[in-house]
Amino acid sequence: MTDGGNSAYNDRIEALKHHEFPMLKDSVYLDHAGTTLYPKSLVDRFAADMTANLFGNPHSASTSSQNSTLRIEDVRLRVLNFFHADPTEFDLIFVANATAGIKLVTEAFRALPGGFDYVYHHTCHTSLVGVRQEARNSLCVDHDAVNNWLDGRTPTANVEHRAQSTLFAYPAQSNMDGQRLPLDWSEKIRRAELGLDCQIFTLLDAAAFAATSPLDLSNSEVAPDFIVLSFYKIFGFPDLGGLIVRRQAAPVFQHRRYFGGGTVDMVVCTKEQWHAPKSQSLHESLEDGTLPFHNIIALDSALNVHHDLFGSMNDVASHTSFLTRRLHDGLRALRHGNGEDVCTIYSRPPMLEDSSPGNGPVVAFNLRCSQGAWVSLAEFEKLAVLKQFHIRTGGLCNPGGIASALGLQPWEIRRNFSAGFRCGSDNDIISGKPTGVIRVSLGAMSTVSDVDKFTSFVEEFYRTSTKSEPVPREERLDQGDLSGLYIDTIMIYPIKSCGGYRIPVGMAWEVRPEGLAWDREWCLVHRGTGQALSQKRYPRMALIRPRIDFSGGHLRVSYRGPPIEDIESEILVPLSANPEFFQSSRASKSVASRVCGDEISAQVYTFDKINNYFSKVLGVPCALARFPPGGLGKSMRHAKAHLQNHQKVGLGPRTSIHIQPPDVTTPPDSDSESEKTRILLSNESPILAINLSSLEVLNRKIIEHGGKPASPEVFRANVVIGSSTARSESFAYSEDHWSRLKIGDQEFRMMGACRRCHMICIDQETANKNEEPFVTLAKTRRFDGKVFFGTHMCHVPLAESGTKEAQFPTVTIGDRVIVDPT
Ligand SMILES: *Cc1c(COP(=O)(O)O)cnc(C)c1O
Repeated sequence: MTDGGNSAYNDRIEALKHHEFPMLKDSVYLDHAGTTLYPKSLVDRFAADMTANLFGNPHSASTSSQNSTLRIEDVRLRVLNFFHADPTEFDLIFVANATAGIKLVTEAFRALPGGFDYVYHHTCHTSLVGVRQEARNSLCVDHDAVNNWLDGRTPTANVEHRAQSTLFAYPAQSNMDGQRLPLDWSEKIRRAELGLDCQIFTLLDAAAFAATSPLDLSNSEVAPDFIVLSFYKIFGFPDLGGLIVRRQAAPVFQHRRYFGGGTVDMVVCTKEQWHAPKSQSLHESLEDGTLPFHNIIALDSALNVHHDLFGSMNDVASHTSFLTRRLHDGLRALRHGNGEDVCTIYSRPPMLEDSSPGNGPVVAFNLRCSQGAWVSLAEFEKLAVLKQFHIRTGGLCNPGGIASALGLQPWEIRRNFSAGFRCGSDNDIISGKPTGVIRVSLGAMSTVSDVDKFTSFVEEFYRTSTKSEPVPREERLDQGDLSGLYIDTIMIYPIKSCGGYRIPVGMAWEVRPEGLAWDREWCLVHRGTGQALSQKRYPRMALIRPRIDFSGGHLRVSYRGPPIEDIESEILVPLSANPEFFQSSRASKSVASRVCGDEISAQVYTFDKINNYFSKVLGVPCALARFPPGGLGKSMRHAKAHLQNHQKVGLGPRTSIHIQPPDVTTPPDSDSESEKTRILLSNESPILAINLSSLEVLNRKIIEHGGKPASPEVFRANVVIGSSTARSESFAYSEDHWSRLKIGDQEFRMMGACRRCHMICIDQETANKNEEPFVTLAKTRRFDGKVFFGTHMCHVPLAESGTKEAQFPTVTIGDRVIVDPT
């Protein structure tokens, strides 16, 4: 298609986008390799079909049942036609998803007398890798090994006890970077009679490929024996998969042992054990149980609507390929001011000059800052979420593809695992290497503006235009300037992630080793998963306002937000930890829960009144739990905060303690001192402090760019430090370099800067989200690819015992703050 054709297609999509994809709102959806989007017409048409017709469970005599049976057989044929597959040469088996299709093939091969050998390409999806567990011998091969095979050198030649049958599996398109593999491998392997003493079958994973490309099975001689796909990746809906079997390979299934309802004609159970598998058609003998018949019927609407909106798969392929080139070129052209690339791209361009199959509509890459350091995926995702881009980051269920793209050796992957790295972990740069990639993938309804918005986003936030990295202004540390510091506000957050309680003026508040008294002692846990709820997921938690009532002995909880029907104006939670509150008549209700990845054991309240209150306010089934100080084992947590590379602590005139070498990353949890510091349910440290002077500087920047200034509350600090000096700006961010503080009579040790996420964008008064202050912080306070604001600290007990201050340490609003006392 010409560029003119592409632009006509693009204009058509732009025109129908509003109407067909209202769920997008302002989002830019770039995860079509995860699933593509379902058009409104498809949902409407399916709804109309469902309400106009009565569909019963297929395979009985009633008309409703017959309705379903007939429609299923029609759809089966339509789908085969969609892939130009002759029904006399191929059969289609409906399965839950591509993975279920793979498992069905695996089940058959496992049952073969003598088992099977398995050869799989290293770009395989995890779902294909898992097949190796069932094989007698298995081998992971790269391109060269396959080419050698086609030249007659069998990859399994050295294997001692080879099986009679070999299954060779590979993806038509990698879900990791979009790389396409030759579709003629099946034919070549079959032609070359490479089996000699054994039979070779091919399994093609077309789940990613078929989403945006025509899959042509018109020549059954060259087709793979088994093809799996996921219909939701092509049409957005229904959630359904397919296994297409070349009839010549069908005998493989004769050895499958299991049978279920729907796949047998007759079964004898008592005295004798005999059954007659259905033999009329292959699909009948493989579709165990009731078919997902509503989903299959929905496929009818999906095929119609897809054709109406997007035309043929050739049109879709041409459009997505055109967009991918634009995206690829756009990202590749981004250079830092010093000439270094912003993006390290792993995907190849969509179309190549040579005859290789090129690349699907996927661009996988990582970002580097101008000095060469990798940008953390977790950090990138925080900004992307805020800017409403939907993308995928991480390992992408493609272990071989990731390992070869990132140059990770098996020992490195296992080391990363031992070091605590898991799929979705926050610490994704280990020993100077990324552990995953950013994947942008396009679909039939992607547009030029989606691509351009994404490229501009990367440019705005990840390109450094100046020649050298902008070093955030290092303020001269002048002890004289710091003389006017005082405590402006003291806040506690009795229920993790809920609203704060402002300590009244004049009230001395107890400081404990784990933090300020009553801070983060409670949390809300999901009743199903046990996971502690966070404001990041449930912004309305900010509207839940706990208050400590010492005279009544209660935590008084109220809700400040849009009216909710039938809700108490206030509920009371006893401050005392009477075991009766937590125990049912039978067993202790202490449940395994998770807070910031730590497995903890919290005591869950059994009062329905309390739990229902929170469930109603948040609209999620949850319960209140308590994590009182002084526990052991899983009832105990430790601080994780540590000094960051950008912090040069103790550079004040007198002291010089604990200087981090600037280019050594401190692994989390290795700071032996912080390991000893216990915390309750706060994320990282006992006490979080912010400096109002830093906030002033930040807000000035936000206002310069027309944003909404941030209130101190969004940072959810315990201690807000103000300054009575007029030139407060001169010590903005000086907290990066403090090592100790004296507040009133008490001493505190600084534990490192606080890493931030987009939770600071939730207005604590309204629970509404916006972009600031994270967006400006990401531009002005990013170090090592992470964003920081505020400082962690802990109390240092007074050396001399016997005084009132040592026995009961407190802080009070207005207390003088002295930095790095000697
Ligand atoms: C999505 C995908 C799969 C898995 O599909 P499911 O529908 O989740 O089973 C397998 N392989 C590739 C290449 C994919 O893109």
